[in-house]
Amino acid sequence: MKAFDEYLRDAEIVHGHLCAGQVLGVRLAMLGLFKLGIDDPAGKDRKRLVTFVEIDRCATDAVAVVTGCRLGKRALKFRDWGKVAATFVDTATGKAVRIAAKESSRALARQMHPEIADKNQQQMLAYREIADEDLFTIQWVKVDLPPEEFPGYKGERTVCETCGEGINFRREVRVAGRVLCRSCAGECYYQPL
Ligand SMILES: [Zn+2]
Ligand SMILES: [Zn+2]
Repeated sequence: MKAFDEYLRDAEIVHGHLCAGQVLGVRLAMLGLFKLGIDDPAGKDRKRLVTFVEIDRCATDAVAVVTGCRLGKRALKFRDWGKVAATFVDTATGKAVRIAAKESSRALARQMHPEIADKNQQQMLAYREIADEDLFTIQWVKVDLPPEEFPGYKGERTVCETCGEGINFRREVRVAGRVLCRSCAGECYYQPL
């Protein structure tokens, strides 16, 4: 495992800037890995970890950097709950831990560094200094991961009976005996022009 400042530098490069979210995300992910006893996420433990992130903001990029979990490897899962939180699943042991940033950490940052007017700068410094137990809640959890959710799982592809597009295993929907993609089944997020 790299040191905090090394991860922070990596995160800054990937994310495009250094911000309070990077500090928070690096710490959150390092704590999650520490709790699971995973000390080499980029090396020998590379294929053990699946991470669920709960927000599409700054901290999520840092979590991806520290864990090495990527959407394209099916190791990063996004649940859009708008929370600075992530759940780390060790697929080798089945153990899982959810770490969430405490809402009180913002007020604590203000208290600790009233001399810094810029909120981002204030939080960046405070989020380095605040102890784990004041910054995060830690919760051991159970995550049901069906085989098709695991990185590297290979399954059958099928074709949507309406639009004809290919669908990867078990992402299809059955409606009145027909095999459909989620879009044709009514979950479409776009309207054809
Ligand atoms: Zn940012
Ligand atoms: Zn379709």
